[in-house]
Amino acid sequence: MGAAETRRSDNGQNEGEVTAYTDPLTGLGNRYRLRDKISLLSEERAADPAPFTVALVNLDGFKPINDLFGSQAGDEILCQVAHRLQACIPGGAIVTRDSGDEFAIVLPLIFEAAGAERVGHLIKDVLSAPYDLGDRNVRLSASLGFAIHPFAGADFESLMKSAETALYHSKRRGRGQITVYSSEIAQEMRRSTQLEQALRNAIINDDVDVHFQPIVDLRDGRTLGFEALARWIDPDMGFVSPAIFVPLAEERGFIDTLSETLLHKAAEAALTWPRELFLSFNLSSVQMTDPATASRTLTILGNVGLDPSRLDLEITETAVMHSAATASKIIEELRRAGIRISLDDFGTGQSSLGRLRDFTFDKVKIDRAFISAISNDRATEHIVRAIINMCQGLNLEVVAEGIETEAEMNLLLSLGCIMGQGYYFGKPCDAMATLRYLSRQYNNMPLKP
Ligand code: C2E
Ligand code: MG
Ligand code: MG
Repeated sequence: MGAAETRRSDNGQNEGEVTAYTDPLTGLGNRYRLRDKISLLSEERAADPAPFTVALVNLDGFKPINDLFGSQAGDEILCQVAHRLQACIPGGAIVTRDSGDEFAIVLPLIFEAAGAERVGHLIKDVLSAPYDLGDRNVRLSASLGFAIHPFAGADFESLMKSAETALYHSKRRGRGQITVYSSEIAQEMRRSTQLEQALRNAIINDDVDVHFQPIVDLRDGRTLGFEALARWIDPDMGFVSPAIFVPLAEERGFIDTLSETLLHKAAEAALTWPRELFLSFNLSSVQMTDPATASRTLTILGNVGLDPSRLDLEITETAVMHSAATASKIIEELRRAGIRISLDDFGTGQSSLGRLRDFTFDKVKIDRAFISAISNDRATEHIVRAIINMCQGLNLEVVAEGIETEAEMNLLLSLGCIMGQGYYFGKPCDAMATLRYLSRQYNNMPLKP
């Protein structure tokens, strides 16, 4: 028992006080107990300035389990978590239940980040073992955030706020993550919140634009279509890469709005191009988990008046991996409507050839990482050759991404690759510049912006 608690019992606790400091479900202390403990420790440590640590532990995916198996099962899990935490924390530490599926731990003898991380890994492992619910076992993971007194906050409120920031940082990175609060993390969180606000405003004010990069026939340089790429220039931050703001919109839950705005603009631009040219548009991986994606896409095409057979949708392997059944339905529905599906960034990430068998794609885009290495690395050349041969056998079209030199183009042609995209043929440019580019190719085709 910690010094603070000894003092409390020495003073004599009546029953009402016990109830006021106890979480009725788990029997652990509650937030009042936590506040008391931290306040007392802060006072003690004012004389003996050794740091101490507070941890927040939040279960990942607890709500769906609660919804699926009922609140009794949820309560049972929370009690088991409470037991496990009490059993595994180091001597002198106390566990409280903060709220819902969140627990707090005060660690008087953890003084620095490495120690916090060690405890974090132990807790994470202990909580990831299956939970016995009588007739079934359930598995959960936990996210953790640590804050070290006094660096992360000298009083209860500011210390807890820092622990919450650390926990939020963990949650953002996915399940089972551990974060120890630092001023860099706080700054990163502030920056991404600012970025989110600016992006939301940019969408409302119609400031997010779409640019187009040609996809060409390598044999004669003829343009076959364009890939639409999102572009955003913030008045304060300047150019922000879609590789930053697309994942942010996914994470903060407004990728649908962003993507719909972009598809609308891209489809309108495509209407001004010669009919035989296709539009290639990137779908985000989050959209592949939402069954409404197919109908939303078709509605936009309908509103704009673009023939679905002129649209290619680019998706990545991660997108189809997360919820394979939903992704498969979306792909089927889109293909039935005449839209083609491209597998983007092929060869990177969680590549599996099985994906090419399990899903129906029309096209594979070989990632730029392979193309930029192809001229000076024999192994890469063999891999690209194998991908091209395999796609031919599977009746899939192949596009090489990121071609920057004539040598790369010639090598790809000799390997049997027919389509390519990259700075060598053209950088992404806005709708007007795209029309000018086309009018040069099509011998002064009249512009209809
Ligand atoms: P991606 O779909 O693989 O797009 C190709 C990226 O490679 C683009 O980067 C393009 O500008 C770049 N690129 C093309 N040719 C070359 C080259 O020769 N050399 C080099 N160094 N780069 C080349 P960008 O525009 O920065 O987009 C990055 C990623 O952001 C895209 O990768 C895509 O995953 C995502 N993204 C862009 N626009 C959208 C969008 O409208 N919706 C969604 N969901 N994602 C988008
Ligand atoms: Mg793409
Ligand atoms: Mg790509």
